[in-house]
Parts: sequence; structure tokens; C-alpha cells
Amino acid sequence: MKLTVLGSGTCVPSAKRSASSYLLSFTNNRLLIDCGPGTLRQIALSGVDYRKIDAVFITHLHPDHVSDLPGLVHALSATPGFKRKKPLYLFGPEKLRWFYEDVILNLLREPDEFKIVLKTCPKKVHLFDLDIVSAKTLHSPDSVAYRFESKDKVVVFTGDADLSEELIELASGADLLVADCSFPDGLKKQGHMTPSECGKLANKANVSTLLLSHLYPTDVPSSEFIRQCKQHFSGKVIVAEDLMVLKIQGILITIS
Ligand SMILES: [Zn+2]
Ligand SMILES: [Zn+2]
Repeated sequence: MKLTVLGSGTCVPSAKRSASSYLLSFTNNRLLIDCGPGTLRQIALSGVDYRKIDAVFITHLHPDHVSDLPGLVHALSATPGFKRKKPLYLFGPEKLRWFYEDVILNLLREPDEFKIVLKTCPKKVHLFDLDIVSAKTLHSPDSVAYRFESKDKVVVFTGDADLSEELIELASGADLLVADCSFPDGLKKQGHMTPSECGKLANKANVSTLLLSHLYPTDVPSSEFIRQCKQHFSGKVIVAEDLMVLKIQGILITIS
């Protein structure tokens, strides 16, 4: 299992960080988690073939998490010389149905070569040998976090989220937790976590490795985010960078 950070940023434009998106790759399948503005460009820069993406999981409908989705559907439908055959699965909150049917299908024709399989509010899904569970988060009315469980590895994405018991339960025992760490300690905004809160979440959920992401532009250095986080969590802490790749194999998570 391999995680590529496509965008470790937020709604605030940044030359360093693209808006939210992650790619989870397996031997045969590729899943996108969120698809913020700039995702298609980041996919190209990462060297991943966008045509091989099987499914997109949207955490919530804020534009920094979803606004490149019309572009992805367009690219899969209109790349010259490419005819997609396999379906594209879209998962997300109920509002994703509105976004697909009333926005995307108003911009584009329904793809005629391949099927879009849209599932909203999935509590539990079994897809490509993965068990995927979602949980409500404290952020927007319908925001969710996702847990991806293969036969031997667990990766959890908080999406945008404040600390909650539901999130601790969802992240329980994860090998890798990708957490919303929007602002440093002292600059807390409701609906997002600070490094200390991410550390508390990782500690209570007993995760192995914590990846701090969804980072707003700041002068506070990454080392300070890690220090604040480590006051509450003794496991491995990494500050996400765009195009960072984490290989999740054995008990090791290696970065390249
Ligand atoms: Zn966001
Ligand atoms: Zn948000």
C-alpha cells in the first residue's frame, strides 16, 4: 500500500501546498481521497496515470476538497485516443449527489463509454478487497472521515475535522493516520485540529504513524508542529509535503 500526498494545503492559495488530495495505491487499484483544485496537475507531477484511478472518496463538499472532480470526469471522458471501460466509483456525503447531478452533469455530458457509480453516505463499503468505513466529523454539516482497511494495513483520513470520540474510534489502531492539522497551537479554529489535538487523537487511537496535513500557510516551522504534537504522542510524526510518497509495508512506513 502506498500513499501519495497530492495536496497538503487548504483553501488558501499557496505556492508550496496544493489543496487537499491524496492517492492511495495498491497492486491493482488506485483511490483518490478528495480532489481539491490543482489535483489533476499534481497527479501529472506525481507521475501517476490519472486514467487508472478507480474511485474517489470525498470527505465534504468544500471547494478545497472537491473542485477538481469535474475536471477528472472530463479528462476521463475526453482524453483523445482513450476509451475508459471500467467504472469510476464516487463516494461522499449526500451533497455529492447534487454536485454530480446538478453541477457536473450540467457542465459535461454523462460519460458514454464508462459508468459512474455514485454512492452517498456509505457507512461501510467493501471495494477491491478493502473494508472502508466512514464516520461523521465535527466540521461541516455532512463532513466525514474514512478508514481504509486491507487484510493487514489500516489507513485513516480525518478529512477536515475537530477532535471527537467518533474520530478516535474510527482511527483506532491505524498504521497511518492522515490528520487535519490546520493551525499551530494557540491559533486554534473550531472545526479543525492543532498539532496538540492531532497528537491526542493519535495517542488515544493508538496509531503507529501520524501524518500532519491540511496545513494553512504559516511562519511556524514544521519542527514546531512536530514538537507540539509529540507532547501528546510518542509514535512517528511526519509533516506532509506535496508529492511525498509513503510506502506502508511490514511495520515500516518509508518516505520518498
Ligand atoms: Zn479544507
Ligand atoms: Zn472544509
